[in-house]
Amino acid sequence: MEAGFLENERNHQQAAAVKYDRANAVFVVLARNRELNGIRKSMRQMEDRFNRKFNYPYVFLNDEEFSEEFIALTSSLTKGQTFYGKIDESMWGYPSHINQTYAAECRKNMQDNKVIYGGSESYRHMCRFQSGFFFRHPLLETFEYYWRLEPDIEYYCDVNYDVFKVMKDNDFKYGWTISLTEYMATIPTLWETTKKFIAAHPEYMETGPESLREWITDDNFKTYNGCHFWSNFEVGSLNFLRSERYIKFFEHLDKVGGFFYERWGDAPVHSLAVALMLKKSEVHFFNDIGYKHNPLMHCPIEGYLQKSCHCNKQENFDWNNWSCATRYKKIHPEFIWNEHTFKNK
Ligand code: GDP
Ligand code: MN
Repeated sequence: MEAGFLENERNHQQAAAVKYDRANAVFVVLARNRELNGIRKSMRQMEDRFNRKFNYPYVFLNDEEFSEEFIALTSSLTKGQTFYGKIDESMWGYPSHINQTYAAECRKNMQDNKVIYGGSESYRHMCRFQSGFFFRHPLLETFEYYWRLEPDIEYYCDVNYDVFKVMKDNDFKYGWTISLTEYMATIPTLWETTKKFIAAHPEYMETGPESLREWITDDNFKTYNGCHFWSNFEVGSLNFLRSERYIKFFEHLDKVGGFFYERWGDAPVHSLAVALMLKKSEVHFFNDIGYKHNPLMHCPIEGYLQKSCHCNKQENFDWNNWSCATRYKKIHPEFIWNEHTFKNK
């Protein structure tokens, strides 16, 4: 009997050693079929640097059907599960209150003024989808955390710990690597519209000493300084994006039509919500994750973080002109990553 007990105990321990409890998390990849090569490049690096150790699943989303080739050549790059979804018109398209003739005029004006993506209709649908809908797509319904992955980016450093577990164990709701100021011609009325929301919903706002709100204004809320987290890299809480406060904020913005009459990006929209509604302690700078989306790079400059990285630290963008890391450090001086700042690395 004792031998049987020991045998069971040994089996149990072995099972515990191999079983790893992942967080309930997923990579989210919005892409077009023609971006297959760029997506493969991004996935290859994500797998080599991080995910081969954890095998988190991927959700791929597209406003058209993914091709068989796209599915075959992305699923073959990972041991994680892969899911492919089409986005329907309820999440990608014009809501009925939008005047499409006026929207077309606005695009024409912006194109004439050489605003980047100013003339693009699909870019606007993309930004609106990323602002208000991806986290409500049925394929993401059951997940708690996401990590956004875009085509043609670079990951420069080994990430040997479970990023999603760190999010959960530390109650982080948003993680970033690059921050910068927005091109104001794309968001002329975003700030006024946001201020109306703040006035209407003080109950959603984080205003105490734990607030990040000073990061987004240099003149005590008169104007927006344009600071935002670059959303092509994002690790975040889907529950935050699905919360009443975030959805109400998105709906408030969507109603005035700025996604179509201007060219509001999902990065300033997410960032305004994060800076206004989350606590400093819920936002995490992933300083240890070397990352590039053309043309900007975050490369850890601290020697102890560089061990496995192949980026050139001279190219690190953080402390340059239009980066917003300097402002962030001012209001959140303890933000620099070190191994003691979060639990369960
Ligand atoms: P940029 O990073 O702002 O220059 O814009 P991108 O072209 O990289 O687009 C941002 C993300 O949305 C990328 O993951 C693209 O693959 C995706 N994307 C952009 N436009 C479309 C579109 O019309 N359809 C689909 N399915 N994905 C898009
Ligand atoms: Mn991109």
